[in-house]
Amino acid sequence: MQLNKEDLELIDIARNVLKENSDLYSDKNTIVASVVKASSGKIYKGINIKTSHSICSEQVALGQALACGERKIDTIVAVKWNLDGTTRVVSPCGLCRYTFDKLELDTNVIVEDVEKDIVLKVKATELLPYPYKRDNI
Ligand SMILES: [Zn+2]
Repeated sequence: MQLNKEDLELIDIARNVLKENSDLYSDKNTIVASVVKASSGKIYKGINIKTSHSICSEQVALGQALACGERKIDTIVAVKWNLDGTTRVVSPCGLCRYTFDKLELDTNVIVEDVEKDIVLKVKATELLPYPYKRDNI
């Protein structure tokens, strides 16, 4: 799906979160910022937490949304710094994709297509084809 005006605004919000937290770690290139837009219209922000058990910015923002009672998520986006000082949208890692699947979030995710050098919006279910489903044995 192509991005709409609201998607571009979410990316801008995420970029602002990234810029506002550039001093968080000694290497700003390791900072990732996310924005989760709930179906209620509320915006939740997240920044990755770097420890021995790091937590992705998407999960921080998503956890905040869930803790505030949100149960339907509209869109998720993450951004990070490039080495040249510009920013870019980054696709969620495997663990985040698994989290979106396990929470059964019918959400849109703004991703980068590195090969085509474009940013687009996909359904979370498209990010994890052939997911593991445990039988009730
Ligand atoms: Zn992740």
